[in-house]
Amino acid sequence: MTRDVMPYDVVVVGGGPAGLSTAIRLKQRANAAGQELAVCLIEKGSEIGAHILSGAVFEPRALNELFPDWKERGAPLNTPATDDNFLFLTEKGSFKLPTPPQMHNHGNYIISLGNLCRWLAQQAEELGVDIFPGFAAAEVLYDDSGAVTGVATGDMGVGRDGEPTAHYQPGVELHARQTIFAEGCRGSLTKTLFERFNLRDGVDPQTFGIGIKELWEIDPSKHQAGKIIHSIGWPMQADTYGGSFLYHLENNQIVVGFVIGLDYTNPHLSPFEEFQRFKTHPAVRHFFEGGRRVSYGARAINEGGWQSIPKLTFPGGCLVGCTAGFLNVPKIKGSHTAMKSGMLAADAVFDLLASDSTSTEATAYPAALETSWVAEELKAVRNIRPSFHKAYGPGCSIAPSILICSKAKPPGPSIITPTMTG
Ligand SMILES: Cc1cc2nc3c(=O)[nH]c(=O)nc-3n(C[C@H](O)[C@H](O)[C@H](O)COP(=O)(O)OP(=O)(O)OC[C@H]3O[C@@H](n4cnc5c(N)ncnc54)[C@H](O)[C@@H]3O)c2cc1C
Repeated sequence: MTRDVMPYDVVVVGGGPAGLSTAIRLKQRANAAGQELAVCLIEKGSEIGAHILSGAVFEPRALNELFPDWKERGAPLNTPATDDNFLFLTEKGSFKLPTPPQMHNHGNYIISLGNLCRWLAQQAEELGVDIFPGFAAAEVLYDDSGAVTGVATGDMGVGRDGEPTAHYQPGVELHARQTIFAEGCRGSLTKTLFERFNLRDGVDPQTFGIGIKELWEIDPSKHQAGKIIHSIGWPMQADTYGGSFLYHLENNQIVVGFVIGLDYTNPHLSPFEEFQRFKTHPAVRHFFEGGRRVSYGARAINEGGWQSIPKLTFPGGCLVGCTAGFLNVPKIKGSHTAMKSGMLAADAVFDLLASDSTSTEATAYPAALETSWVAEELKAVRNIRPSFHKAYGPGCSIAPSILICSKAKPPGPSIITPTMTG
């Protein structure tokens, strides 16, 4: 069966913050230079934003660089973060802790990340990017020299037995001079690239957590737009890495969720059940009483940090965003670093394609990343997550960026602000 071929200069796989920022920056550069550059982006969700877990505290640093006039362009950043709260929960009570430096959200916004992606997609299309939602890249294509030459989308209309049905449609081959993978955490094609090009040689293994998130519409009298609550402690046991977040968006909506490191040792622990228990705690349950859950989801989250970042480039392409692992773990924020890595990759890819070079590898990208604020930010916190087990052992619970020896009975945990950063 032959597949249709669509040729592009650059194909971007994945329509999250990283992929969209990559595509936008490529076209910004090409348009500014008056050059033709055919860029397409494919997204496996039915529409851009469909696979994004909505509700996030967003640091606008990368967006400020990508679109300094984002306010005038109507970017959906409507709720400034106003009130940071950091709680330690016991089974029946809670007490407020000083907010760790990484968790200060002054200047940030509580947003729907899905809406931001939809807005970014509009900007990308206006700049001339072809966006194809509803198509998953299922296979990486290579040339005879072993360089990546694009991706193929999956065949449609294949029966359970693997045989074509009456609705069979073969996938499409998207050919490109450079293919940029922005698949998010644990990208399926990215994993094959790790193997093929030994991209993880010499770096620490990636580690993962699970993030569960729910969007709620709550009683307007309980809603305080801009309020942020993070918690550690109950219902987690002391040796389990995890904590909650609860953000008040606009329109009487809150987003609530729980992140648990997947290195937990209790085989009976169910992250979903722990999250449900958390919502019954007296410090937060009133928010949900009389409210309505609008949507929910869960997905993996990278926890390896800077030392787990793989080699980012290979012949014919590169990795950007969470598929490479740029999440700032103690902040639980990765959209800004995802966007910035995409922008840096786009600059390097554009320069490579515009040059006379015969190289197929955009090596200027990792070099630029190394001197960027992404590297500075991730290096500064690189020891916080690994120190949870290695330095302090069982009996201590580390929450985002602070360490609590929870053998001490509340209200007197000893809080150790990390000195092992940098
Ligand atoms: C529970 C939770 C809470 C979080 N809270 C925050 C927060 O408050 N602030 C913050 O900044 N960050 C937060 N993050 C992290 C943030 O969501 C990520 O860092 C960010 O979304 C990474 O962007 P990305 O574009 O790299 O990947 P993603 O946003 O994951 O986007 C990847 C996209 O690629 C698509 N895709 C994947 N594979 C393919 C394929 N083969 N073909 C086609 N399409 C494909 C996916 O459908 C998806 O749309 C949170 C994450 C979780 C899980």
